Amino acid sequence: MIYLDHAAATPVDKRVLTTMEPYFLDDFFNPSAAYLPAKKVAADYEAAKATIAHAIGAKASDLVITAGATEANNLAFTAISTDFTLEFGGFRSAAARGLARSPRGDGRERRDPESSVNSVLYLETEHDSVRSVAQRYGGQTIKVLKNGLIDLADLKNKITDETELISVSLVNNEIGVVQPLAEIASLIRNIKLDRFKRGVKRELLLHSDASQALNLLDIKVARLGIDLLTLNAAKIYGPKGVGALYVSHEAKLQPMTVGGGQENGLRSGTENVPGVIGFAKAVEIASEHLNGNRKKYAAWRKILLNKLENYELINKKHALDNFIVLCYNGIDAERLIYLLEEKGVYVATGAACAASKGRKSHVLKALGLDDSQIAGSLRLSLGETNTEEQMRDAAKIINNAVSSEYKRVKKS
Ligand code: PLP
Repeated sequence: MIYLDHAAATPVDKRVLTTMEPYFLDDFFNPSAAYLPAKKVAADYEAAKATIAHAIGAKASDLVITAGATEANNLAFTAISTDFTLEFGGFRSAAARGLARSPRGDGRERRDPESSVNSVLYLETEHDSVRSVAQRYGGQTIKVLKNGLIDLADLKNKITDETELISVSLVNNEIGVVQPLAEIASLIRNIKLDRFKRGVKRELLLHSDASQALNLLDIKVARLGIDLLTLNAAKIYGPKGVGALYVSHEAKLQPMTVGGGQENGLRSGTENVPGVIGFAKAVEIASEHLNGNRKKYAAWRKILLNKLENYELINKKHALDNFIVLCYNGIDAERLIYLLEEKGVYVATGAACAASKGRKSHVLKALGLDDSQIAGSLRLSLGETNTEEQMRDAAKIINNAVSSEYKRVKKS
């Protein structure tokens, strides 16, 4: 098997699994219990959180552990000053969404065309877990340029005095493009200063989903100027269903689950001790190999791009080297995936969740690709299960599959 879909899932590193194991067996205690072995587990849990936090230049108390990045992204958006009006079935932010209640009093909302309040701004290429929650809050999209980078002019145009939260992922999960977060943060700082001078009291927070970044980029929240940062163990050879949200002192969150008051009251529920211990070990391993991994993937990308034929490279610049997005115009990439699977090569057409629902990639669309180009696009994401030899083998297998597909399409 040649697995080229590490952006969708990574296997748990054996060292990670070994560190987790005792916490399923001998050290299974609830960290909130009063006896000594439980207190030791609580201390180990805090130490693991400190390790994760240290990697991003933060403290354990700045992190809220979640069950993955989706939950962390959802939690981040609770920083928006929301009125929880159950009358309308849960989350809503009427002011933020520019909505007014129907004068008929039938509980339905109508959009007031006069008021376009940009309370939430998010990049149009965000992962669905950001897009969906942002849309709940009436979020407006920020455009990307053809190379996948944020259109800073569009961001500047859309920020108003009502804007409270801007969400821009550090690394895109389909094309691997790295966004200039420090530049965005500096723009935000200037706007905050201007608001302060004019006596505008509203907060302006920067959230970033760094799910795909932690094993290749040195992320420091203070340097990047981030208020809310999403982390994901599942993409860095840690366990699935474990993530974290870094929360700066400026961000005031609302808990989505209430109960025992764990995670400073922001995420009640018995702590996932083995998961967090594993997450910390994965972070530790990743931090040790940041530079080595980047060099390795750069070399492998070169080999692939030299050996592959008849493709157009979509993510030419600004992307992490382990993301390679190829377009074979005129070919159905879905068919290609099945042909490749028969030969033992596992690739993707885009984000796993969008692909499984048969939806066209909103990311490739945002880059300006037409339907035929999107239909012919493949994502290869390299990782630790790969070897240099696999790059040559994969290129050969992909070339053969592509040329037989081109022949078939020509005949029909
Ligand atoms: N954000 C990004 C950028 C991702 O790549 C993913 C996973 O595919 C997620 C969020 C969601 O992560 P999870 O499914 O672990 O909640």
